[in-house]
Amino acid sequence: MDSFEYNVISSARTIFGSGSIERLPDIIKSLNASSPLLLSTARGNEHTKKLAQILQRASIEPVGTFNQAVMHTPSSVTDEAMQRLEANRADSIVSIGGGSVVGLGKALSIRSGLPHICIPTTYAGSEMTPILGETSGGKKVTRSDPKVLPAAVIYDVDLTMSLPPAVCTTSGMNAIAHAVETLYAKNCNPVLSLLALEGIKVLAEALPQIIQDPSLKHTRERALYGAWLCGICLGSSAMALHHKLCHTLGGSLGLPHAETHTIVLPHVLSYNAPAISQQMRELAKILPGSEGDAIKGLDRLSMSSHAPRALRDFGMAETDIDVVVEMVMSAQYPNPRRLEKEGVREVLRRAWVGERARTDL
Ligand code: NAD
Repeated sequence: MDSFEYNVISSARTIFGSGSIERLPDIIKSLNASSPLLLSTARGNEHTKKLAQILQRASIEPVGTFNQAVMHTPSSVTDEAMQRLEANRADSIVSIGGGSVVGLGKALSIRSGLPHICIPTTYAGSEMTPILGETSGGKKVTRSDPKVLPAAVIYDVDLTMSLPPAVCTTSGMNAIAHAVETLYAKNCNPVLSLLALEGIKVLAEALPQIIQDPSLKHTRERALYGAWLCGICLGSSAMALHHKLCHTLGGSLGLPHAETHTIVLPHVLSYNAPAISQQMRELAKILPGSEGDAIKGLDRLSMSSHAPRALRDFGMAETDIDVVVEMVMSAQYPNPRRLEKEGVREVLRRAWVGERARTDL
């Protein structure tokens, strides 16, 4: 066996189950807090209203709601939320929504030192990671600090039932991307491999089923479970070309996060395939319909989940391909296959056009 090091990096407390949102008041009290600020996106208003009702029944009065969280955690929005936090003397932060809201909660928590309770309603996985990416002046800067980790996370499938199937697909593919990069991370270990393969397997089964019948709670619960595992993977292992490429596309061009991950993943896997033959075999075993070929399995998953295919459909200009390649090549980070400019360009070209992934990179 290869030598390895195993470190647990995860939020302190994870609570999973239908109806588990009712435990929020007890969690707040256990943190010696009583005046939370509630965070959401503009579309998450119904969720924050529900939280406020649950808290008020337990005699906890939220100090207010900030519902302007947006993607990529722009520092201007964080500054505004920070003012609200301080002006209202909040003693805790409760974020409900996808990675955008979780990101804002993390940014406020690290600035204020206040405990952060996360209630994720997508599969992005940010709640399980010590990573905070913030955008300022068209650049995304990422830092990793254990203090960024939320104090507690509640996964309640009931709050995810309204997530549109198309968002389930892209968000679920984003989670799968975390676990795929874990499989070949320089600091992967046997425990993380198990978590990654289980997370990918569960999501690859659940996502097409959600498309077929979005009302099935059990399927969405499985997807949420898979997302949790993939989130732990993201928080515990070093990410490589795929995540760097997607962060550059998101941070510099403002492309949507989950859609970008969904489109880019099969092409990066195709690029890395020659350097990760064992991981490709393991992936092929768990991806339905792969017939021994992980790229084919991922492509099938993409088709059966109605995943988006082309970056150009999200507003990326062809001339941006070379700009992004230059940015990606200028940063140093580990990747199983050495970064070659022409190869990276071809990955991006195929993702831009929307070609099907193939194993010839
Ligand atoms: P998101 O949070 O922007 O959510 C996508 C859309 O889904 C939004 O419009 C949101 O309002 C809506 N939505 C969320 N939950 C819903 C529900 N239950 N019902 C109906 N609509 C719902 O997108 P995301 O993909 O979850 O997160 C992306 C962000 O998270 C990016 O900023 C990304 O950088 C960050 N992220 C960070 C990490 C990390 O570890 N730091 C990991 C993954 C993602």
